[in-house]
Amino acid sequence: KENVLSTFFIGAIDQGTTSSRFIIFDGTGQPVTSHQHEFQQYYPESGWHEHDPYELVASVRNCIRKASQSFKEIGHDIEDIKVVGLTTQRETTLVWDVETGEPLHNAIAWPDTRTKGLVRELKEKEKAEGINIAELTGMPLSTYPSAVKLVWLLRNVPKVKEAYDAGRLAFGTVDTWLLYNLNGKDKGVFVTDSTNASRTMFMNLHTVKYDPKLLEFFDIDINKIHLPKISPSSDAQAYGRISSGPLMGMKIAGCLGDQSAALVGQQGFTPGCAKNTYGTGCFLLYNVGEKPVISKHGLLATIAYDFGRHRKPVYALEGSIAVAGSGVKFLMNNMGFITHSHKISDLAASVEDNGGLVFVTAFSGLFAPYWIDDAKGTIFGITQHTQRGHIARATLEATCFQTKAILDAMEKDSGHHLSDLAVDGGMSNSNLCMQTQANIIGIPVDRPDMHETTSLGAAIAAGFAVDIWKEFDELKAINQKGRKLFTPDITPEESDKMFKKWARAVEMCRGWLD
Ligand code: ADP
Repeated sequence: KENVLSTFFIGAIDQGTTSSRFIIFDGTGQPVTSHQHEFQQYYPESGWHEHDPYELVASVRNCIRKASQSFKEIGHDIEDIKVVGLTTQRETTLVWDVETGEPLHNAIAWPDTRTKGLVRELKEKEKAEGINIAELTGMPLSTYPSAVKLVWLLRNVPKVKEAYDAGRLAFGTVDTWLLYNLNGKDKGVFVTDSTNASRTMFMNLHTVKYDPKLLEFFDIDINKIHLPKISPSSDAQAYGRISSGPLMGMKIAGCLGDQSAALVGQQGFTPGCAKNTYGTGCFLLYNVGEKPVISKHGLLATIAYDFGRHRKPVYALEGSIAVAGSGVKFLMNNMGFITHSHKISDLAASVEDNGGLVFVTAFSGLFAPYWIDDAKGTIFGITQHTQRGHIARATLEATCFQTKAILDAMEKDSGHHLSDLAVDGGMSNSNLCMQTQANIIGIPVDRPDMHETTSLGAAIAAGFAVDIWKEFDELKAINQKGRKLFTPDITPEESDKMFKKWARAVEMCRGWLD
């Protein structure tokens, strides 16, 4: 067996937007076994996007059960799994009753845009009060952060307001909800890490603490709501132990948002390193070191990772793109163009180029660096010549163009030109998409052979907490084998021409009437 040399293993729970996974890594960072479970997406109204809180927990439990079973079947001992790390989708907002542990609403998922009107109101308030939310939190007001979703719940769901008034309302992101349930509700483990907390808009990015000014701005009375305790992403005490199932008693020692985990998994530990993860959405994180850089060009500032103990939190500039793999899923599920996501590359390759088409995939408005919340998905340039292949290509290109716009903004904010871009996530499996990406940004795109970098990051955070590794240098050999480099194969002039067309399309898709 290949893993015979490894004497220990680390488990990683990866609770993503469309699926949950449990992966067991050996000490060299290679996955030994895993299980993935896709769960239901709920779109109760146009622009609304929800998850069932219990389904999230059940999907994670199922993955742990199945992967542990196959781990045993290939001859390993569960006792050799030393520790578990957790990584989750970010911003997705849950509320529950602290006394019963019962959710009071479905989870509002991060791409949900029901708060559009509320955001306009809050932007007015921001101006009137002379407060600068982005300076404090790293994020501009938009439909994206959890705070805005919570305000919507308080205003629109009587059960949530009643629990709040009675001082029984618990608020959390997915990490908090899962930890609360995996530990057993009776244990009352109510915790988050600083990477997840930095996406709520309640945490001050500079102090890494909840900020009374922010709570006041959102009209949240700290005496009426339970907010999870903010802990470092790597911590042997904060996250408790799994209380049932095959991993009963196992310590959870790492917790971080999925994009942070991917940066850690790609070992982006040096300021100036960047990674781009093409999952449901696409998120570029650029390590800026131990002080936050507040963007002037439409990017977010966030905690990259926080390994605790003697280490300071490390910050990142982030470019968030709402639609990436979800565009592929849209062509599959809504349009019936393909039967499986991986077939998008063949369909895109059935035509030579985009045939003059530009698809602004603004299904949830446009995120970074544009932040246009009234944009809707729009295809420009359709003629009698247009085939499905052109639309497939334009769908993949949309994420690549937004990545280019983000890199341009990042260069302006940081004064640094990136030399190459590390990539991962489901859509990075498409060679055609990654080649297109290299062409559009004009620098090489570097893809690891082992694509589960998000889970690996959670495993690394957990491993550090229990001293499996003590220094980042010890990780150097991990995930370096079989990386694939995509180098640009079109001229800068051709690339510029394509990007100009995209930029024009973005301007034209503003202000669609509801
Ligand atoms: P998440 O963690 O956000 O759920 P993943 O990293 O698992 O996302 O990626 C899933 C997304 O990647 C899906 O939206 C899917 O359509 C897309 N995807 C998966 N494989 C491919 C592929 N070979 N080509 C293009 N897109 C793909």
